[in-house]
This record gives sequence, structure tokens and C-alpha cells, in this order.
Amino acid sequence: MRPLRRSAATMSVSHSSRLNKGVRDQYMKLPQGGMVLVTYVWIDGTGEGVRCKTKTLDYEPKSIEEIPEWNFDGSSTFQAEGSNSDMYLVPVNMFRDPFCLDPNKLVMCEVLKYNRKPAETNLRHTCKEVMDLVRDHRPWFGMEQEYTLLGINGHPYGWPDNGFPGPQGPYYCGVGADKVYGRDIVECHYKACLYAGILICGTNAEVMPSQWEFQVGPCEGIDMGDHLWMARFILHRVCEDFGVVATLDPKPMTGNWNGAGCHTNYSTDLMRKDGGIKHIEDAIERLGKRHDYHICVYDPRGGKDNSRRLTGKHETSSIHEFSAGVANRGASIRIPRQVGQEGKGYFEDRRPAANCDPYAVTEAISRTTILNETGKESKNCDN
Ligand SMILES: [Mg+2]
Repeated sequence: MRPLRRSAATMSVSHSSRLNKGVRDQYMKLPQGGMVLVTYVWIDGTGEGVRCKTKTLDYEPKSIEEIPEWNFDGSSTFQAEGSNSDMYLVPVNMFRDPFCLDPNKLVMCEVLKYNRKPAETNLRHTCKEVMDLVRDHRPWFGMEQEYTLLGINGHPYGWPDNGFPGPQGPYYCGVGADKVYGRDIVECHYKACLYAGILICGTNAEVMPSQWEFQVGPCEGIDMGDHLWMARFILHRVCEDFGVVATLDPKPMTGNWNGAGCHTNYSTDLMRKDGGIKHIEDAIERLGKRHDYHICVYDPRGGKDNSRRLTGKHETSSIHEFSAGVANRGASIRIPRQVGQEGKGYFEDRRPAANCDPYAVTEAISRTTILNETGKESKNCDN
């Protein structure tokens, strides 16, 4: 939908972002009388959206075990029929709340159905089972989350209302008002993640203007999914304050504009030790025999989203072919040059889409490279 020209300018940031945030600060300073706000965060029925709601505890939880289960109305989150709509929220990982500050908490939750079976978009459940199986291999992950800032009119933030910015080239890692848009958001998100306890390890402006990236890791096992999902929640929440929207769509603009991925760096204990390159090569060979399965779980639509992005252009590989190479950003798998030289380290799977579920990605990599599973089928893939 193309908004009218006059409304396009007024619709680029939300109404609530213009509320006086100084007034909010006055209330945020009020003492809480020993009470603690705990905000439960979960993945909704789209497998991409996050939801949250908050309750009061009359004590400060010191560990995740001290946070009670809760429930919500699944018929309002695409997760249940109205007639049997209570879903369980099971707290699984606790973070500090960077919005309401200490002692308040954010908690990542798994969603269970009325029968206490995992909801369809609860991909953490099987991920956790696999991570428990492979624990001795100490799998480490680092994920590079790319995203694009949009006005609430759906147009990339900072782009001309009618038309396009100049072609790609000056924007990647750029600085200056004509190179990057929205750095305030990026820096606030970074600080908020550090406060929360997210293992965020870097950020940069991306190739397409208004596109950015942050990196989370290294995280061991199930922590990768927990930390990346909470970092996404914090991103959406920070963007809400600024009145713009962060999209994880893997190809937000068609044409000669880069897409958005979630490159996944990975190693096991054996790969990190001397001679580990042999284990890296073995893992890549197994991944190559299971390309279709991985493509299937690397976005929420069985590869359909990634088919818009993995075209073989714009620093991507073709979705139809598996490839690997040292320092090759046009390959499915990149072995960093330094790793080739040192003969140990990690490798990068460049195929996951920006809107992938990190639980599905890390589970699939572990199944293929550690559990030596083969075959194309996946319970997460219906095509
Ligand atoms: Mg990048």
C-alpha cells in the first residue's frame, strides 16, 4: 500500500514515540516497595513475533527456578482455538530488565499447550533435548543478526519518501548523516543488551542503507537461542521507544539491494583444538549431503523466505547448491582465512535467513555434524 505523499512524512515515526520521555523518567525513579516486575517473553504462533506480559513478584528471583509458571490466551497469539485457549508459559532463562531497571527481570519462556506438549512454534523444546545429548562436544555458536529499520509506513527509515537512496557502496560500516540512518537505536540496543546480560559482541552498519547488524556469542548450546531471541525482543522494544520498526525480513527491498541474513558461526571442542581443521572439514562434508534439510529449517517458511535472498548475488550463495570455501562470501559455508592458516577454529554457515529461529538452526547443525544424522526430512518442514 502506497500512502499519500502528505501522510507518508507524518507516518514515518509512531505517535507514542513523541510522548515526553522525560515525564516517564520521573515515574521510573519511584521506589517499588520491595516488589519486582517480571516480564515474560515468548514466541507467538507466527514463529517470528515475540509477545510479552508482566506480573509482580513480592521477592527478587535469584535464579530461573524462582520464577513461577504463568499462562496466556493462545487464541490471541495464533496459538490456540478460543474454546481451549490457555497456554502455559514456562520460564527458561532470566535477564535483567534494561527498561524498568534492577531489580526487575525479563524472562524467556517456552510455550506449552493445554496438554503440556510444546506448542507448534516452540522449537526450543527439541533444541534443548539435542543440546543435552551433545553437551560433551561443547558446541559454540555466534549469530550475526541483520535487520532493517522501517518507518511505521513500511518504507525503510531515512529513505526518500518517493524514490531511493544512491546505490550501495558507501553505507557498510559507514559514518555520517548521508551514510547511516538510526544509529541512536543501534547504540541504545547495544547498551540495553549489555545491561540485560545478553552476550552481544559487536555491531555494524550494513550494505543497504537503514540495514544494521548485531552479533551475539559465543554462546554454548541452548543459550544461543535464548540470548538471540531476547536480543530481538530488546531490539523491538527499543525501536518502539523511537517510533520505528525493525524488520527481520530476509529481503525487505527487491532489486539491487542486499538481503538480511543470520550468519551462524560454529565450532565444537574438537574443532577448536590443534588439528581441528579435520573435524571442520568432516562437518562441512556432512552439511553438504544435507543441504535441502538445512535450507528447510533456515527460515520459518521451509525455504520460501530464503529463496528471495539466496540468489547467488549480493554476497549470497544459490539456494539450490551447496558450496564451501576459505574466505568466500559467495559460498554456503565460509572457512575464515585465519582458521585455514592455524588449522583449527570455527566455520560460518551463511545460509540462515534473518528471520530464522536460532533454536531450529543450532539444533539442525548439531544433529548433522555431531549426531551424524542424515536424510532430508524434518518435522519443522512441511514441503
Ligand atoms: Mg553482515
